[in-house]
Amino acid sequence: MLGLMQRQELSISSLIEFAERHHGEGQIVSRRVEGDIHRYTYKECAQRSRQLANVLDTFNVKQGERVASIAWNGYRHMEMYFGVSGSGRVLHTINPRMAPEQIAWVMSHAQDQMVCFDMTFLPIVKAIHSKCPSVKHWVALCEADKVPSDSGIPNLLSYEALLVAQPTTYTWPELDENTASSMCYTSGTTGNPKAALYSHRSTVLHAYAAALPDVMCLSSRDSILPVVPMFHVNAWGIPYSAALTGAKLVFPGPGMDGKSIYDLIELERVTYAAGVPTIWQMLLGHMEPNKLRFSTLKRTVIGGSACPPAMIAAFNDQYGVEVLHAWGMTEMSPLGTLCTLKNKHLTMSEADKMKVRLKQGRAIYGVDMKIVDSAGQELPWDGKTYGDLLVKGPWVVREYFQGVGDKEPVRPLIDGWFPTGDVATIDADGYMQITDRSKDVVKSGGEWISSIDIENIAVAHPAVAMAACIGMAHPKWDERPIIAVVKKPGQEVTREELLAFYQDKAAKWQVPDDVVFLDAIPMGATGKMQKSKLREVLKDYKLPDLR
Ligand code: ADP
Repeated sequence: MLGLMQRQELSISSLIEFAERHHGEGQIVSRRVEGDIHRYTYKECAQRSRQLANVLDTFNVKQGERVASIAWNGYRHMEMYFGVSGSGRVLHTINPRMAPEQIAWVMSHAQDQMVCFDMTFLPIVKAIHSKCPSVKHWVALCEADKVPSDSGIPNLLSYEALLVAQPTTYTWPELDENTASSMCYTSGTTGNPKAALYSHRSTVLHAYAAALPDVMCLSSRDSILPVVPMFHVNAWGIPYSAALTGAKLVFPGPGMDGKSIYDLIELERVTYAAGVPTIWQMLLGHMEPNKLRFSTLKRTVIGGSACPPAMIAAFNDQYGVEVLHAWGMTEMSPLGTLCTLKNKHLTMSEADKMKVRLKQGRAIYGVDMKIVDSAGQELPWDGKTYGDLLVKGPWVVREYFQGVGDKEPVRPLIDGWFPTGDVATIDADGYMQITDRSKDVVKSGGEWISSIDIENIAVAHPAVAMAACIGMAHPKWDERPIIAVVKKPGQEVTREELLAFYQDKAAKWQVPDDVVFLDAIPMGATGKMQKSKLREVLKDYKLPDLR
């Protein structure tokens, strides 16, 4: 027997319609590539999203066809989130930090029909436009008078000129909720990037879940700063969750440095921010020497790579900001777990609370997870046993987008579960902790050493800005860990001092065999350390006992 409730398809257009009706005066503030701060309301955002949908109709972009963005976090990008997806097209957000050849590759693979880009990225577009035959229209996200006549891009259009010619009314199509809405390519550290293709259903369910009190705890009273980019995994779904709650949105545009972020937090009375550790490192690096304080910031979600304890402590103890450690993946829309404390933790000592906060957290309703051994047998949730982490749920990929010309469909699932490639423990309370990417674990003498643990100890040293631990081949032990370190400007630490710093913090056999000082650690397009590149940098390196 079926239930007798109304059948209404979940849709992305309903989010912006809701925000317009119930939070029409709600603010969206953007630092623009033009250099100024732009302000408008959800009402105007909804109107302009409908104008954009009309533009796409006029250009005859068909349902399901891809419209790409190469843009910073800002109001025009937000309009694309709703105007493109809401009208039944698929928004392909492109990460401008990928190499130009890779950008051309993903555009061809996705068969993008139209590309809208911030003027900052004109050099990228110039470099690739002739290699992207599927693209019929190139649109600059600016006023007509800012579009250079000598851009070299045939028939380059102005977004503002296109919008202004259209009515602000539009009838959003009633789509099957499983219709594709947006797509994001993984950064593809090995092989070509693979695309997760999200649907209206997965996006709306994820937006609901992300807003929950034990997840991001979003409300119309919040002022939210997503520093995490809209060009990668939909800025962790924040644009959708913000529309769903009517929270004020503050977009940083290209201003990702510590000062720009700090100024925006204070100016716009931001209560809640989200970003990867490298961004917060820059923010703290600006605040400490200038003795600055936050007047409104209460919570910050940190994820994308492991958040070092020193950073959690700095936010919590020095600035009174609660850190919510989160874990997810492109293939998971991206949220999987988020670390909020349970009642039982509140009476713990600060040191014990920190042990919990360091974990990547509890599964969000909608995400099932398990850890398994190499034979696929499920492992216990005891907080000690580690295994390969598998997940499933309505916002986890089933298959990768195949694009054109690919012969074999890429079906990653194992008995319905998605293998994350992460190694983790799960404790009895359901708190998951990532030990490592499976390819980054250091395997020494039959034991596993978590490179994250070794890095966390190094970055707790006052002179260390960044640290990457990798395993080096060893004839007796298989691998031994070494730590590559970037020092903070003007700070000194020797190899011996740093190795001594590990005493009492790690078991003797886990202490790195050596320290390598570098000017920089190679970073990938999504702000993570690229250990494959680091291995290339250190290809001639030899462990001390093998020299
Ligand atoms: P990419 O597209 O760069 O592969 P994703 O954003 O999909 O990037 O990255 C997902 C991976 O990032 C996870 O599988 C995990 O290894 C790592 N990751 C994400 N959040 C955390 C975290 N809080 N702690 C440790 N690792 C994390």
